[in-house]
Amino acid sequence: MIFICKNCGGTTVYDPDVQKMHCSYCDGLDSEEIRKSEQMSACPSCGAPVEAGEVSLAKKCNNCGNYIIFDERVEGESRPHLILPFMIGREKMKELLQQEFRKKVFMPDSFLSERKLQTIEGIYVPFWLYDLDTDMEYEGKGTSVRVWNSGEMEYTETSFYSVNRKMKAEFTRVPVDASLNMEDGIMDLMEPYDYSALSDFKEKYLSGFLGEKYGLNAEELEKRASEKAQLDTENLLNNSIQGYQSVTPVRKDFRTNIKIKEYALMPVWKYDYQYRGKQYLFHINGQTGKIIGDVPISLPKAIVYSLTVFLGCGALIQLVLSFLGVL
Ligand SMILES: [Zn+2]
Ligand SMILES: [Zn+2]
Repeated sequence: MIFICKNCGGTTVYDPDVQKMHCSYCDGLDSEEIRKSEQMSACPSCGAPVEAGEVSLAKKCNNCGNYIIFDERVEGESRPHLILPFMIGREKMKELLQQEFRKKVFMPDSFLSERKLQTIEGIYVPFWLYDLDTDMEYEGKGTSVRVWNSGEMEYTETSFYSVNRKMKAEFTRVPVDASLNMEDGIMDLMEPYDYSALSDFKEKYLSGFLGEKYGLNAEELEKRASEKAQLDTENLLNNSIQGYQSVTPVRKDFRTNIKIKEYALMPVWKYDYQYRGKQYLFHINGQTGKIIGDVPISLPKAIVYSLTVFLGCGALIQLVLSFLGVL
């Protein structure tokens, strides 16, 4: 599907700056109506063939440049439950990149060029969010040691304790990345997201962006959510065991009960910058603006810079020498 402006017939996209649908042809706001796709393999705007692949939710048409949402992938069982709409729009994202990188002396000039920045795309990345309870039973042996002197003698008293804990914890929306295409570990670096801004899924939020459906289902990933929750529960439990000289665990039982699994989409801007045959990837959290990525060093610029510094020093030495009357 695409969204068509009722006023002028142009296409409308979601604009994070005003948090409304925006028609760039007549400047209309929230003037959209849905035009459904007749078939998944053709662009609903120009009819050109489009390839949805295995996991694409939304794509840009190579022919007309409109952003298409694949109807079948947002319907029925496949429909996402939740979405975190982009809060950082294209202009704001470019501003953040400029602020972050313009002071880098050795950066290639093209990195912040308008032509390159225009290639950046916003992507919705699939996640599973789990609500779960954990139950932990712990048994350990603790010791405490007391030492004192009396006359010529030193006494040591070791007390042994049985340390028992039972702990229950409740977790809401533990996130696990369900994307096949996003580079490993990137979504962990994009954290934290503020999940309180999650909305019920609506197609309009996808308009103007790319999107990916989950590549791993909720059951395949629930182990990861349990492990995250276990780690947090163990930390809580360990914090409650204080005041012993040593503690040796004897038994640890851990159970999780997953109550709710929700399929959610998270916003990321992705900048794929190529320099001298090498790929440099930058990711910007579409909600908070957090940037991850390292800028390449431009070799010609670095050489010019060191030459300038070198010449600068040479000039200074000459100046000092002439001041001293040597020259
Ligand atoms: Zn319009
Ligand atoms: Zn098209």
